[in-house]
Amino acid sequence: MQYTLRQIGFLFLLFLLTTSCKKKAKEILKEQPYAIVIHGGAGTILPENMSATQKEQYHTILEKAIKKGFFILEKGGTSLTAVQKTIQLLEDSPLFNAGKGAVFDNQGKNKMDASIMDGKTLNSGAVAGVSNIKNPINAARLVMDSTKYVLLFGKGAEIFAQQQGVKFEPDAYFYTKGRHESLLRVQKKERNVRGYSIDSKQKKLKHYGTVGAVALDKNGNIAAATSTGGLTNKKYGRIGDSPIIGAGTYANNKTCGVSSTGTGEYFIRTLAAHEVSNLIYYKNFSAKEAVKEVIHNQITSLGGDGGMIVLDKNGNIAWSFNTKGMYRAYKKSNGDEKIKMFKMVKDTI
Ligand code: ASP
Repeated sequence: MQYTLRQIGFLFLLFLLTTSCKKKAKEILKEQPYAIVIHGGAGTILPENMSATQKEQYHTILEKAIKKGFFILEKGGTSLTAVQKTIQLLEDSPLFNAGKGAVFDNQGKNKMDASIMDGKTLNSGAVAGVSNIKNPINAARLVMDSTKYVLLFGKGAEIFAQQQGVKFEPDAYFYTKGRHESLLRVQKKERNVRGYSIDSKQKKLKHYGTVGAVALDKNGNIAAATSTGGLTNKKYGRIGDSPIIGAGTYANNKTCGVSSTGTGEYFIRTLAAHEVSNLIYYKNFSAKEAVKEVIHNQITSLGGDGGMIVLDKNGNIAWSFNTKGMYRAYKKSNGDEKIKMFKMVKDTI
């Protein structure tokens, strides 16, 4: 078979075009990293205070959680679904102060807060002060997807969740012996300590275990979510930072996603999660520099305690805390994976 010069030229052009397209497609696929980072609360987490079994239990659940989120991302799922499902898994564990393991307020009830944010649209949903909702994060997602509101509170939020078919559980489901003992201990201390104002005592409580997740998906979209039972023995309908967009949770595709844990009042006062994003956007800080500045400068100088996880639009992960430890883990598309609990002499991220 004979080809004219024109035909040969055309075939050559076609060949060039398809190989360069393939190369481009490969580059795009290679260039878009995806990842998930989680925390399970910060606080007095010391190796000497934990038995080998406890360490194992935390390690196992943290690993299960990042694997779950990562699997969703790997299959092409959205970062929103990845953070929601990961948080759901952590809420179902009695080990964390969220969902099943939520702490008790001073009335002996479990009042929970949760929020979720989509970094692509800046849409957000949150619930605060809700009881008996098995997975508050699912109610938060529905607030975002099915209402024109961002934050629903108390009874109203529960009615909304009921109408949406969210699963409820009786009080007994949320009873965990350890959390109940903590409540009794704190209340006993409160009765015994004289000359202490209720507020100053409240600030001294260090019962964390809030859960948070941030994910970046294959489409470059970031999402963040946080869920908590708040502080043990909390009073007067106290709400912390976890359901407050910009304080406990923030996501913006232009910068990063953030989830906070710690004494919520300090994270609200500094709008901590949004502050991290702002430092990246306006001051060109890296994720690592931004989270360090907010935790070790802004929060610490106010006397606050806690930690944050950050995942930026390029897939960089950073975390920081000024407490003894923070349950934390991540998994990235480049194969990197880390599961940590205690303070490191030299933490690499
Ligand atoms: N930040 C949560 C709150 O203040 C508590 C926590 O992180 O455990 O409600």
